[in-house]
Amino acid sequence: MELSVVVPCYNEAETLNEFYESICDALKKEKITYELIMVDDGSSDSTMEKLENICNENKNVKVISFSRNFGKEAAMLAGLNNASGKYVSIMDADLQHTPETLITMYKKLIQNPEYDVVASYKESRKDDSPLKRTLTSFFYRINNLLSDVKLLPGASDFRVFKSCVKDAIISLPEKTRFLKGIFSWVGFNTIYVPYTPEKRTHGSSKWSIMKLIKYSLGGIISFSTKPIKSVFVIGVISFIVCFINFILMGNLSHRTIILLIGILLFCIGIMALYISRIYSNILDRPCYIIRKKIGFEKKATK
Ligand code: UDP
Ligand code: MG
Repeated sequence: MELSVVVPCYNEAETLNEFYESICDALKKEKITYELIMVDDGSSDSTMEKLENICNENKNVKVISFSRNFGKEAAMLAGLNNASGKYVSIMDADLQHTPETLITMYKKLIQNPEYDVVASYKESRKDDSPLKRTLTSFFYRINNLLSDVKLLPGASDFRVFKSCVKDAIISLPEKTRFLKGIFSWVGFNTIYVPYTPEKRTHGSSKWSIMKLIKYSLGGIISFSTKPIKSVFVIGVISFIVCFINFILMGNLSHRTIILLIGILLFCIGIMALYISRIYSNILDRPCYIIRKKIGFEKKATK
């Protein structure tokens, strides 16, 4: 089978049928043999019901249902772990990623065998609020300054890649996953194509600003030790400044002491981020728990 399409779904009941019809039509038209791996990430609406109906009517559809909401990263990982196509792709269920772009990326990949990954990056973010856009561009700057893996601004999980890339990604054992960074870390020849995500017609983005900040910080921590190493530099600079202050003034002013406490708490905060990462990896809990898997026993139609 040619293409595995992995689709994380969380409370997407309103768009699922439209998504399913548009993607299947596009793949059928291009005569691409495929499997659609829909991962229900613990939805509380009728997403699972709809997925079961779709799965029953189409042999190419496979469904994985989680025991609760584990997040998009876990849903993508479960899809990749179960994908068996020669090529693999990841796309959202909310119709923001169009089947036309998927087909364009797929064709680019098969026409250029020297490439292993065709990745999309958001050229424009017409659906995002100005605050989200500002934070996102700030994240890419900070990430590319601090992190060992550089990210193309706007880089998205919406990609098509060879199965060897999928194998490399799923071989990484880390528990707190940041797929964009993992793609960059595993390497392979990557070509980027611009795309403009469609406006969300139903439901709303699952990313609150706080969730986005937490996810972005996690991404930087995953691929850089610069923040924790900078604690040492901050300590040395603070010591020198305080020492000079003490020599010149004979004591430390209240303002200096308050500033020092702030710096200290900031440094403890940075260390806490790394310690919590070590803690979650030591616990070694699985990234997700599967409640039900359907459609995997049937053979995909040619
Ligand atoms: N998603 C998921 N689990 C979550 C949050 C989101 O599987 O906890 C799925 C969601 O159903 C969609 C995709 O991830 O298919 C992207 O989510 P969303 O549209 O909220 O993100 P955005 O487009 O705003 O980045
Ligand atoms: Mg979306």
